[in-house]
Amino acid sequence: MYNNDIMKRKKIIIGNWKMNLSLPLAQDLILKLKSESEKKWDVDIAVCPPYIYLAQVLNILKGSKITVGAQNMYYKEEGAFTGEISPLMLKDIGIQMVIIGHSERRQIFKETDSEINLKVKAALQHDFTPVLCIGEDLGTREKGKAEEYVTQQVTNGIKDISKNDIEKIIFAYEPIWAIGTGKICSGEDAVKVNKAIRNILKEKYSTEISNKIRILYGGSIKSANFGEHISNEDIDGGLVGGASLKAEEFAKIIDLADKAMVTI
Ligand code: PEP
Repeated sequence: MYNNDIMKRKKIIIGNWKMNLSLPLAQDLILKLKSESEKKWDVDIAVCPPYIYLAQVLNILKGSKITVGAQNMYYKEEGAFTGEISPLMLKDIGIQMVIIGHSERRQIFKETDSEINLKVKAALQHDFTPVLCIGEDLGTREKGKAEEYVTQQVTNGIKDISKNDIEKIIFAYEPIWAIGTGKICSGEDAVKVNKAIRNILKEKYSTEISNKIRILYGGSIKSANFGEHISNEDIDGGLVGGASLKAEEFAKIIDLADKAMVTI
């Protein structure tokens, strides 16, 4: 049962396409999703295509309830930063959400906590919803240090963020060892980390503020394995990679979140 003392947070399912799909496949996927989203889903839905497809996807989704997000953003507004995309550019085309600090950005592109903090601040300053990703690697989990590690990543990522702004951030707990590997973190373990994240938010801000913030799980989510996670009141949604590339499968995951909204 849902704890009545805490506000019922609306679940959200976000699809992260990463560097996948061609333009025709992207259009096909988004048209299917758009028609599925005409169902009465009581959850928030977002998709984060590669930059190059954002404008087309936004165009197709005009008037639908699906939010379009970017997978990354630089923190400067303009200048000599070859290959980067600025908050102003994303604003120009109508983007509302941006994933920040995905583990692939941290690991492959060596983004640091302090850069990620600058990106979160820039996203807030430009009125985006930042989706701040955090998560430990396998070695850290095996040492029993997952909660401690993630708490530190959150602390660094939200440095100097005001009470007013913190509520606008969505947190996504994504254990690195579960991303794209087919190995999902159990609902029980994911809940422990999500609770640790909420606790740090409670300590730094307040119980009231922390209870308003959505904390998601991500890592090898499929419609067949996400039921135990999404039905838990401490998991406010999912950040979905591979399974967001197929309209039917992504819709089934949204269905699970929708049912969880009714039953909690
Ligand atoms: C992700 O890209 O954030 C992710 C969790 O990927 P996957 O669902 O494929 O593990």
